[in-house]
Amino acid sequence: MAKKKCSIEECNEEGIHEVSYVNAKVLEEKGYKLHVYGAHPPRRPGVIYLCEKHYKLWKKLFKKESKMERFVMKG
Ligand SMILES: [Zn+2]
Repeated sequence: MAKKKCSIEECNEEGIHEVSYVNAKVLEEKGYKLHVYGAHPPRRPGVIYLCEKHYKLWKKLFKKESKMERFVMKG
């Protein structure tokens, strides 16, 4: 089986974590270029693969983003 490369364009690490592109958009908003696998718009947004380093980064950004959403919904 072919190994997936990390979806961050300038990264050459192996992509070990699968993340839905819907959730990964937060990375694009930060200026990262993503390679999306299996996207068939509009029904399937596709997935991206992240290496350990970028997965941690994504989790951080994603948490922040969802906190903000909750905050907005409350207010
Ligand atoms: Zn990476």
